Amino acid sequence: MERNTRQRGALRRAFQRADRPLSTSEVLELARAEVGRLGIATVYRNIRAMLDEGWLATVSLPGEAPRYELHGKPHHHHFHCRSCDRVFDVPGCTHDLGAGLPDGFTLHDHEVVLFGTCRDCADAR
Ligand SMILES: [Zn+2]
Ligand SMILES: [Zn+2]
Repeated sequence: MERNTRQRGALRRAFQRADRPLSTSEVLELARAEVGRLGIATVYRNIRAMLDEGWLATVSLPGEAPRYELHGKPHHHHFHCRSCDRVFDVPGCTHDLGAGLPDGFTLHDHEVVLFGTCRDCADAR
């Protein structure tokens, strides 16, 4: 019980500190720095529980393993760095994405994924 609570705490803090969507392997790596021994099965189990509790939300990217982020963030978009494979938040929304809709169509929502190179990867060149 004690151990489980500590593991869950470490996983939560990994998400809070990263402040960007994380894959299961990224969470595993970050949380291991705090609690040491931690298995991927434990990470999967806890992520599922945190999704059920409404604490986490799934970030789906085309052709990618899912990432997870804190639930309830204000509307934002995602940026996928093709060099390091990390996903970042792009706050806000400036595009009138419903502008080109055919007559009679109603827009309910949208997801936008930007692709490119993050600052770290650009600097490393
Ligand atoms: Zn990068
Ligand atoms: Zn938007």
